[in-house]
Amino acid sequence: MTQTQEQNQERAGEQAGKQGGERPQDRPQAPAPVAEPVADCVLCGEPTEHPASTRGATYCPVCEWQEAQRTACSG
Ligand SMILES: [Zn+2]
Repeated sequence: MTQTQEQNQERAGEQAGKQGGERPQDRPQAPAPVAEPVADCVLCGEPTEHPASTRGATYCPVCEWQEAQRTACSG
């Protein structure tokens, strides 16, 4: 009797986000989940959810929420 125990654990390791490498992929649709460089929060410096191409001030979700609270309160 032969017992073959194969445990294939595919560990999708953490993909180290390497910035600085735009591939000239011409895809008209379906935005590829490429690690797009994001803009930094202008308040705390944390990476935001906005692309770096976003103009103007960019806020991280936290600061964005705080700003929303501000504007909401200041009526
Ligand atoms: Zn922030």
